[in-house]
Amino acid sequence: MTEMNEECLASPVINDLIALRETLWFNSKVTTAEEGLMRTGLTRREAEEAEARLRRFAPLLAQAFPETAAAGGIIESDLVPIPAMQARLAQTAPIAGRLWLKKDSHLPISGSIKARGGIYEVLAHAEKLALAAGLITTDDDYRLLLSPEHRAFFSRHKIAVGSTGNLGLSIGIISARLGFHVTVHMSADARQWKKEMLRNHGANVVEYEQDYGVAVEQGRQAAASDPSCFFIDDENSQTLFLGYSVAGLRLKGQLQEKGITVDAAHPLFVYLPCGVGGGPGGVAFGLKLAFGDHVHCFFAEPTHSPCMLLGMSTGLHDRISVQDIGIDNKTAADGLAVGRASGFVGRAMELLIDGCYTLSDQAMYALLSLLNETEGVQLEPSALAGMSGPQRITASHAYQTQHRITQEQMQHATHLVWATGGGMVPAAEMQHYLAQAAR
Ligand SMILES: *Cc1c(COP(=O)(O)O)cnc(C)c1O
Repeated sequence: MTEMNEECLASPVINDLIALRETLWFNSKVTTAEEGLMRTGLTRREAEEAEARLRRFAPLLAQAFPETAAAGGIIESDLVPIPAMQARLAQTAPIAGRLWLKKDSHLPISGSIKARGGIYEVLAHAEKLALAAGLITTDDDYRLLLSPEHRAFFSRHKIAVGSTGNLGLSIGIISARLGFHVTVHMSADARQWKKEMLRNHGANVVEYEQDYGVAVEQGRQAAASDPSCFFIDDENSQTLFLGYSVAGLRLKGQLQEKGITVDAAHPLFVYLPCGVGGGPGGVAFGLKLAFGDHVHCFFAEPTHSPCMLLGMSTGLHDRISVQDIGIDNKTAADGLAVGRASGFVGRAMELLIDGCYTLSDQAMYALLSLLNETEGVQLEPSALAGMSGPQRITASHAYQTQHRITQEQMQHATHLVWATGGGMVPAAEMQHYLAQAAR
C-alpha cells in the first residue's frame, strides 16, 4: 500500500473486517444505472458484441463439447426456485419475496462461472489470431477452426493465466481443445482435483505455495518474456469482464420465460460471490444494462478475504490488500481467496454496486449442507457466499429506506443467489465439505 490513508482505515467497518466479524457495508456512492454505467467506460454495444461473438462460436462449441450440443453450443445455466431452502432459512430469519438460484455451478465444460469469462476470452483471442492470419472471416462456420491445420496454427501460440482453480480450469480446457500451448499458474488454495483434471486435458500446471496474487504475478512475468505468449489478466481484463456481462443480458429472457416480472414494483436483488471482482463485476454490469435501476447487486466475500469490500469502502481499490490490515486471506472458499481486488473492476463498479458483505467459512459450510439437504443441489463453499444476502437485506430497514424500497415492494422482490461453482466437485470432496459442515 503506497498511500495508506489513516482516515480511511479508522472506520467501524474496517474494525469489523480486522476482527473477522461478519460485516455488511452499503455503498453511499451508488447512483442511477445510467450514470453508473457511464463510469464503467464500457458500453452496451461492447456487451452485445461479446454476445454475438459467443453466437459465432456456438457451432464450434457444440461440436467440440458434446455436452453443449443440446443448447446449440450456448453455454448457459438454469435458473431455479429454491422454496425448500427459503423455508429452512426462514426458521432463523425471514426473506421477503422469493428465493431463486442461478446455477452457474453447473455450466458445461468447467462447472463454474469461469465458463463464461474464461472461455470467452480464449475464443476472442483465437478469433483475433485466425482473422489476422486470414484463416477465417466472421461469416464462416467456425467449426473450421477444429481442423488439424488450424490446430497446428494455434499450437504455435501460447496462453498463460494465474488462478485459484476455476479460471485455470476454464482457460486450460478450452485452450488445450483448440490446440494452444496453455500454462496455468495455480495458487496454494487450488484443489488437487482441479490440477489433475487440467493435466488430463493437456494443460501445463505450475504450482505455487503462495496465494493468488503471487500466482498471477509469476504468470504475468513468465508471459512477458515470451512474445508468442498471451497472458489472460484476471486482475485487469476488460475482455473477461465483457464475457461475464453476457449473463446479465441473457437473464432478461430467462426471467421472462419463468414469468418473473422485474420493474419498479418488483425489484430484483442479486447476490454475487466475489474474488478479484471480474466475474461478479461483469455479471452486475450486464444486469444493470438489462434491468437498470430495478436490479440491486451485492458482492459477497469470506471474512478472511474481504478485498473488494476493503477496496471499495476505503476508495483505495487495488492500492490496499487484506494483508495490509492484518487479515490472512486463508479461506475454504478457494474461488474467493483473493487479497487484493481488481482496481479496474472496483473503480468501474463504484457507482453501481449497492453493497458488499462478508460471511465466515463456517457459515458457508452450513449453507452448503442446508442446500444439499433441502434442494439436493451440491455446490463448492465459495458458491454459497451469496446465500446469506437475502436475509440480511430483508432485515435491513435502513437500506430499504435509503433506496426508497417499500415493504410492499419487498414482498414482491426476487432474490437471486448466484451459485458460482461446484458442479464438477468429486463425490469424495463433497463428503469432506459436508463433514466439515457437521462439525
Ligand atoms: C472465481 C470465482 C468467483 C469470483 O469471481 P472473481 O472474478 O474472482 O471475482 C466466485 N465463485 C467461484 C466458485 C469462483 O471460482
